[in-house]
Formats: sequence, C-alpha cells, structure tokens
Amino acid sequence: MKIKALNGFKDIVPGEVELWQKVENTARDIFSRFNFSEIRMPILEKTDLFARSIGEATDIVEKEMYTFVDKQITMRPEATASLLRAYIQHGLHVQKPVQRLFTIGPMFRHERPQKGRLRQFHQMDVEVLGTPNPKVDAEIMAMGAMLLEELGVTVSLEMNSLGCPVCRPGFRATLLAFIEDRKEALCDDCARRSKTNPLRVLDCKNSKCREQVEEAPSILEHLCDDCDEHFSAVQNGLQQLGVKYSLNKFMVRGLDYYTRTTFEFITENLGAQAAVGAGGRYDGLVEKLGGPKVPGIGFALGIERLVLLLQLQEEEADSSIVDIFVAGLGEKASKFAFPLVHTLRKKGLQMAMDHEGRSLKSQMKQANKVNSRYVLIIGENELEQGQAVLRNMETQEQQDIAINSDDNNNNKMVSLLLGLTQLYANNNK
Ligand code: ATP
Ligand code: MG
Repeated sequence: MKIKALNGFKDIVPGEVELWQKVENTARDIFSRFNFSEIRMPILEKTDLFARSIGEATDIVEKEMYTFVDKQITMRPEATASLLRAYIQHGLHVQKPVQRLFTIGPMFRHERPQKGRLRQFHQMDVEVLGTPNPKVDAEIMAMGAMLLEELGVTVSLEMNSLGCPVCRPGFRATLLAFIEDRKEALCDDCARRSKTNPLRVLDCKNSKCREQVEEAPSILEHLCDDCDEHFSAVQNGLQQLGVKYSLNKFMVRGLDYYTRTTFEFITENLGAQAAVGAGGRYDGLVEKLGGPKVPGIGFALGIERLVLLLQLQEEEADSSIVDIFVAGLGEKASKFAFPLVHTLRKKGLQMAMDHEGRSLKSQMKQANKVNSRYVLIIGENELEQGQAVLRNMETQEQQDIAINSDDNNNNKMVSLLLGLTQLYANNNK
C-alpha cells in the first residue's frame, strides 16, 4: 500500500515552490528595508507557553493544538509566543531597547482542512518589542501593505482597538449585558463561552451570532482617553504614509493577548479564509510571560493563502532556468563535458547535462524542458577538430566555439571556458 501525506499536511513541489520563494524573498527584502532581523525558534515548546499567552478559552488552545500530553509539549500553533519566549530567554531587550524581529516557518493547528486552511501551514511573522509608539503601529501595517502590494495581491486593511486593562473591563461588562439577553440565539460555542470570553461573540463567523451582534455596542466608543488618543495617532500615521484602512468594530481576534490596535488584511477571493494576515498590539504579554515590562506589536501573514492568491492571478511560477545545457555526444565527448559542467558551475553558471548517453534530439528536448538559454553541443568529431557548437535557444543562432587543437583535455577546457564565459557575459550585458 502506498503511504500518503497526512490530511492537512502538504508537500510543496517544484512548479509551486517558485511562488513560495517569490513570497519569502519579497518578504525578506521588505523586512530588511524596515530594519528587521531574523530569528528562528524551535517548533516544540512547553504547552504552558501557549496556554498562558494565547489564552485557555480560545479556539487554538481549546481544540486546535498538537500536544504530546504525556510530555506537556506542543507543536507551536503560532509564532508570537515562541518569539517572545526567546526574546525573554536571551535578554534581547538588554541588547537593544527596541527589537524588530521576524521569523518564517511552519505552524500547526488541528483544524478542518480546506482551501487555505491546513494543519501544517506557514507564517511570516514580525514583531516589534519595546515601544508603545503609535507610529510603529502605523509603520508595520504600512510594511504589510507594501509587501502585499509588491506581490500584486489586493487586500483591504481593517482595524479596531481593543482598549487596555483600564477600559476593556467596562466594555466587557456592557457587552456581556447585551449578550445575556440574546444568549438563546447564539451558536453553541458562543453560548458556552460568552461568560469567559464575551468579545469572541463579536467575531464569530456563525450567521446566527452575526445577526445577534449587529447592534452590539462598539468598543471604540468605550475606550479610555489614553487608548482613544493612541488609536487616533495610529490612524494619523496611516494617513501620513498613504495607507488605506477601514474600521471594523467587530474585529477582536481570536487570541487573548491583544490590547489596543488590532488589524487584519482581508481578501475577497478566498471565501471563508478571508484573512491573509492579522496582528495587533500586546502590551502586557512579555511581562505576563515572565519578561520585562515592555510593550509589543506584530502580525503574521499566511504563506499558503498568499500563494493561492498569486495562483488565482494565474501567475506563472518562474520555472528554474539553466544557462547552458551541455550535450555531449558519444563517450569521449561526455567524458569531456562532465568536468566542464562542474567547472562552469563553480564559475557561477547554472548548468545541466545528460548522463545517459542519449541522442542529440533527446538532449535538445531535455534542454527545452529545463528552459536552457544555450546548448553547447560537443560531438566526437568536433572534439577532434577543436570545435564545439553553441546554440542560442531563443534566437536559434549557432556559433562555433574553439577548443584548442592540443590533445590535452585540460587545455581544451581552458580555452572553451574562456570563450563561453566571455560570450555569456557579452550576451547578458
Ligand atoms: P482564520 O480566521 O482564518 O482562522 P486566524 O485568525 O486563526 O485565521 P491567525 O492566528 O491570526 O489566523 O494567523 C495569521 C494568519 O495565518 C492568518 O491570517 C492566515 O493567513 C494564516 N493561517 C491561520 N491559520 C491557518 C491555517 N489553518 N491554514 C493556513 N493558514 C492559516
Ligand atoms: Mg483560526
């Protein structure tokens, strides 16, 4: 019996992997323009880290985590908790008062697999630790918007404020009273946890709940003066940077640690999997995890969803390109070609050759398949005569390249190499 990958776990094969590389390379480029450094954390952490940060009464901790119960360790369902654990453990706040960090890697959640929703999925996660400044909120949203724009992905930015420990309890009580009257009409999940986590009812995707909360009070009208001022400054910053956004009073995010600014990048093209990225401020979290009293803000983008959007735009993955395919015909020529290809790879060219002694026709086919720019044809006779033929696959032009008449393979190679690398440089000026 053939063994297949687990449901919700996916291989990323050539043809698709190029889009992943494009997404990741663009992200790395933009993150470095914004002065972020990379950090990499392990996939396994103590279960307690996630329970304490994400919150016990959240979807993730309640039902989505891959946990080794006997060892009390969990495969990370998101990156922020692990990143903060590392930040605290290595005293990174001492090295720099404001740390700007990013990480890219797999996350694990036991959800129902569907388009844009996997059990192993990948996030690009950024966090700024050590400043409450609303300019930073605007700056990182602008960074996310810039990345999505450079990828050519159209999204809208939705934003809300969740207040702080000063003003949120008041809002929570008001909301609780509002929900209490409508409890009967809520979905089972919301009815069950409306007491422990009433805010979650606001962003429940169930249509019953949506209907009920339409008239719910808005947290934006219950912010304390400090939070209100902060949120205005964030919006000011976005306007200064020319980033479009809209306010969404229903957005509360599914994790408990958020304070003040929260936001999502939303697409209309992936059905229920509408969030391409999401994040927000978490000013009390580092301290809660045993670290210094520093505020933080961050967001995570889902790579699978970005790749799906690029595929929807029928973006062709750039298949890998070979500079020169060397077609050696016959044993002697193949023997000559083998170290030649190696030497040209050392010089930085992308090279390919056939090792199976196939016909010229078949080798030309292979060269086409790997998108080779040139094919260098070395026949046995040509080799004797100190000649090889270089064919430009785009223009179909052919030209002779000299191989020294000297019998010594090494010398032949030297002159051939010189000819090829010069020609290559000329053609690619
Ligand atoms: P959703 O509402 O779609 O469940 P979420 O709020 O759980 O998303 P976050 O925890 O904020 O998502 O993670 C940030 C991003 O990671 C999401 O916007 C999405 O792009 C991606 N993501 C989250 N869960 C998955 C998953 N199971 N499969 C693929 N991508 C995911
Ligand atoms: Mg989710």
